[in-house]
Amino acid sequence: MPIVNRVADLHAEITAWRRQIHAHPELLYDVHRTAALVADKLKSFGCDDVVAGIGRTGVVGVIRGRKAGAKVIGLRADMDALPIEEATGLPYKSTVPGKMHACGHDGHTAMLLGAAKYLAETRNFAGTAIVIFQPAEEGGAGAQAMVRDGLISRFGIEEVFGMHNYPGLPMGEFAIRAGAMMAAADHITINLEGVGGHAARPHLAVDTVLVGAQIVNQLQSIVARNVDPLQAAVISICMFQAGHADNVIPQHARLRGTARSLSPEIRDLLQKRVREVVEGTARLYGAKAELTYSIGYPVMVNEERQTALAAAVAGEIAGADKVDTDCPPVMGAEDFAFMLQERPGAFIFVGNGASAGLHHPAYDFNDEAIPIGTSYWVRLAETALAG
Ligand SMILES: [Zn+2]
Ligand SMILES: [Zn+2]
Repeated sequence: MPIVNRVADLHAEITAWRRQIHAHPELLYDVHRTAALVADKLKSFGCDDVVAGIGRTGVVGVIRGRKAGAKVIGLRADMDALPIEEATGLPYKSTVPGKMHACGHDGHTAMLLGAAKYLAETRNFAGTAIVIFQPAEEGGAGAQAMVRDGLISRFGIEEVFGMHNYPGLPMGEFAIRAGAMMAAADHITINLEGVGGHAARPHLAVDTVLVGAQIVNQLQSIVARNVDPLQAAVISICMFQAGHADNVIPQHARLRGTARSLSPEIRDLLQKRVREVVEGTARLYGAKAELTYSIGYPVMVNEERQTALAAAVAGEIAGADKVDTDCPPVMGAEDFAFMLQERPGAFIFVGNGASAGLHHPAYDFNDEAIPIGTSYWVRLAETALAG
């Protein structure tokens, strides 16, 4: 595998950074320690500019090539961890109870730092590479916060690229697709009010457990009977809270879940039908339903041209036969979608081998992916900015 030689030399150093970040996970925007480490390293590499505090705790490094060129591209990594108790038993495991890097953002941050070090050393490109380290990917829309804080206009970014590790994709392989690659994820909260009462006298009550159960069932009919079977959609109700005793019909119930889609049309359809089904079902049983349907991360759409470039660079590193250029979309969401709404670009998956899944307490980023992902970043910058 043609790993960039200098990147291979940096493998141990990047691994040490990755494990250091892994041991000190931070959540959402509260990534002060990680952001400080990133900013310190970027300065020590001799980046032309290092700007912290974009989108609250985001960090940006500016690296100008030594050849003449005006093009500017952004390479983005995420820095935040998850509220999960780590169960890996690794020597560098989380030192913070209840928090862990279970999505590999430690690896993403370390690989992009490695790329920044290489790019600042060699500068073998025309134009400017902007390395972007964002907070709050895990539900906090940190990418959107950075965009709103002027990330794109301030640095003149013309194209954006992102990467995520992928458990189950073999080590040394990549996967990408043009078009919609990850789902829009919206949030459903339903507060039900019925009439509480004695379990033995249900005729005098309006049972919110029964109404809630009907709503959970009816919502599934949206995907089964309203969405074109050739389109993708998911509705999952993942929380159902009601009651506190086996002989009391609860007055209130609360349900929460997520609705996911790969196109704006299906996204609108889900929103409309969820409201009709929730309100209609509650009315049918004499309960009151208050639905909060909040719009989350948008569909993540890869642009054709940048996807072809990303796939070609990945093929150069891994071998063309190790790059799936038409991988199926996934219904997970990714807030890099906010950057892709602003500028054309591409997001790619890099194999993490047979590890535990993302967000699992036994997950760990695979350090063998470091030279592969870092080589991808540096060759991508050198190719996109070839002049
Ligand atoms: Zn995640
Ligand atoms: Zn992630």
